[in-house]
Amino acid sequence: MRILIDIDTCTACRLCYDMLPQVFADRGDGIPIVWLRVKIDDPLKSSLREVAESCPSSSIQLEEVG
Ligand code: SF4
Repeated sequence: MRILIDIDTCTACRLCYDMLPQVFADRGDGIPIVWLRVKIDDPLKSSLREVAESCPSSSIQLEEVG
């Protein structure tokens, strides 16, 4: 799964890294970064979809790859 964050629309609300700190982190100014070494299994995919749907500015896009 590919995780894309639109930093132009992100409002740095913190929701994504509060909900899923094993995937997202604050890069220091409120904009999230994604940890690269996370194994994304099916339960985590489900949680990611929930976070993406909860993002108030729809700044998180998820793409299935492979
Ligand atoms: S939930 Fe959305 S708006 Fe909030 S910090 Fe994450 S990407 Fe930005």
